[in-house]
Amino acid sequence: MKITDLKCAVLGSHPVVRITTDEGISGLGQVAGRKHYLKPHILFYKDFIVGEDPTDVERVMMRIRKGGSFKPWGSAVSAIEMALWDIAGKAAGLPVYKLLGGKIRDKVRVYNGAVRFPMDGNSPEAHAANMKKMKASPEGFTIIKQGIAFHSGMPNEVPDYFYGEVQTGRFARTGGALTERGLKYTIDCVQAMKEGLGDEVGLALDCGPGMTVPDAIRLAQAVEPLNVMWLEDTITGDYVPYVLAEIYREVTRSTSTPIHTGEQIYLRQNFRDLIEKRAVDIIGPDPGDIGGIAELKWVAEYADLHGILMAPHGIFIGLIGLAALVQVSATLPQNYIAFECPIGDPKWWYDIVEGLPDPIVEDGFITVWDTPGMGVELNGEAARQYLPEGDEDFFD
Ligand SMILES: [Mg+2]
Repeated sequence: MKITDLKCAVLGSHPVVRITTDEGISGLGQVAGRKHYLKPHILFYKDFIVGEDPTDVERVMMRIRKGGSFKPWGSAVSAIEMALWDIAGKAAGLPVYKLLGGKIRDKVRVYNGAVRFPMDGNSPEAHAANMKKMKASPEGFTIIKQGIAFHSGMPNEVPDYFYGEVQTGRFARTGGALTERGLKYTIDCVQAMKEGLGDEVGLALDCGPGMTVPDAIRLAQAVEPLNVMWLEDTITGDYVPYVLAEIYREVTRSTSTPIHTGEQIYLRQNFRDLIEKRAVDIIGPDPGDIGGIAELKWVAEYADLHGILMAPHGIFIGLIGLAALVQVSATLPQNYIAFECPIGDPKWWYDIVEGLPDPIVEDGFITVWDTPGMGVELNGEAARQYLPEGDEDFFD
């Protein structure tokens, strides 16, 4: 089998990759929303992969992997990798999880980072009330993640929250030392959220990046009695193009609260310091940024060897990305906690992606399906209306 074409169309704000072959089998991959600007980067790889055998996934990846980097520049390579696995699975007549070593669980736990309800103000009471709404949402999530500190509106909305200035713009980063008032307010909100949830639902907190080491340690120690699932991205993370494992290690060694990072990191080599130095307790690679699902699986196995847990990121990767997350998460070792469940945004994504269970999430889990490949397809007829001008031949 040979690759005949690499296509990319931006549907909504998601670049979607479609790889075609000379045997009529095609594969899909999806890039996170709001990354429409990556289309030329994706198409750049076409000449490197046309003519290759897509079922030799790693051999194809060796031709393009050096062209990626930390988020968002690992997305193109990652989406191509997922499309290759989709083809390899269809060619073999097997779900992708079989090709990754087989599943060790029939349903995968997911956590809520995307199903949100409007907040009624920003008091601790409002945070508690909002958590109760999320707890009652029909997916029955058993873990809910909420943004606080520099991963929330707090620096903007709370007077004298920190000793610094709010930065604006897509790739700007707000950070600095918290005031005592800011720190106390943050802790009060976490306490209130936990009261809203009780002990039936785990609370994870996305905190930055941008916190200082002393503030991260103070916050982590203050919430120790609350048994939160993790504090994410206190120091680096998000779109920060470096890791700073030594600094994370200082925070992690200072507290019993689990410390988490890794959503922006590209390739196993860049996870090495975090894992070998046991610099965090939990890592959260995104299959759409790390370099693909096989890369994520490799990192999960290596993390497991070192007693480090896995909670993959995935909020923006859409419904085709969701399928990839289900396939790989079914195969991860027992250090797997849950992945962050993506949603279809806008809602018409649910009309154009076929193959997902309905409802997708039940009692906080997704049941792993057995269809060949990733197990999802785009309905060409329904999707055609959303194709931008110039991409009318995407499904041809
Ligand atoms: Mg995050």
